[in-house]
Amino acid sequence: MNEELSIVRPVKKRMRFKSVLRANKWLTPTVKQFTFSAPSEFDFYSGQYMNMRFKIAEKVVARSYSISSLPGALSDSDEKYLCFTIKNVAGGEVTPALFTWEVGTEVSLQGPFGTFFIGERVPEADIVMIGTGTGLAPLKSMLGYLLESCHFKRKVTLIMGVRFETELLYMELWKEYEERFSNFQVLTAVSAAKSPAYLGVHGRVNVILESNIEHYRTRMFYICGLQAMVNGVATYLRNEGIAAEHIFYEKYDS
Ligand SMILES: Cc1cc2nc3c(=O)[nH]c(=O)nc-3n(C[C@H](O)[C@H](O)[C@H](O)COP(=O)(O)OP(=O)(O)OC[C@H]3O[C@@H](n4cnc5c(N)ncnc54)[C@H](O)[C@@H]3O)c2cc1C
Repeated sequence: MNEELSIVRPVKKRMRFKSVLRANKWLTPTVKQFTFSAPSEFDFYSGQYMNMRFKIAEKVVARSYSISSLPGALSDSDEKYLCFTIKNVAGGEVTPALFTWEVGTEVSLQGPFGTFFIGERVPEADIVMIGTGTGLAPLKSMLGYLLESCHFKRKVTLIMGVRFETELLYMELWKEYEERFSNFQVLTAVSAAKSPAYLGVHGRVNVILESNIEHYRTRMFYICGLQAMVNGVATYLRNEGIAAEHIFYEKYDS
């Protein structure tokens, strides 16, 4: 993130609170969406993340998770809630335990954190968002904010990358957005697709970027995922002459 930009950008009040798991559901064979309660005064910008603290085998551990729901989202009973879209990392210290949690489990949440967000002043440019795996989480919140809350009229392209097509997240939502918002487009890159029914691009997100770069030169880029992908894409864009101030990113494992 560009330091100058992060200094002048507004902030939301940081809070620490006890939160209750209200729901969890499988989205793919390895990813769940977790819905947690939040106090009514809690607020964040789309794209920001929370630190989650909990005990595993008598040890307190903390991990960061991007908020995938919209700021101000309310449940049917008018309770504020936050969604997280989390991958069960095989052999991970925390996620295998987190995936056994039942509704009613309590955790401590602190935040919001991060300068990878879209605030009150939305970009005055067309946008490309690039996410791999659960890197889609903050982008989902940003997209909902731009399209649903701000009625953003510039072009927004979402490029999603995964290994297998069964790992593509929120496809129904993106298809609904394509129908509702003529300025929105989703493109998928699957590197090891198994089914002939998969009709998107075969390969990594770079394949899509490289074949469309001439249309993307004046756009703003928001990139999220593991550092190998983020570094690779950001380097490619800079080498193509995209200004560093137009490239924003979040890395999950830096
Ligand atoms: C700002 C920020 C936001 C984050 N938001 C999310 C989020 O919204 N959803 C999410 O699933 N994770 C997110 N993460 C990653 C998360 O904090 C943990 O690192 C992750 O859940 C693994 O924890 P673990 O203890 O199970 O694995 P660890 O025992 O800590 O093992 C870490 C290993 O897991 C890999 N890893 C970490 N995250 C992922 C991932 N998402 N997919 C595949 N491999 C991964 C790392 O490369 C590393 O090799 C975020 C990280 C940061 C820094």
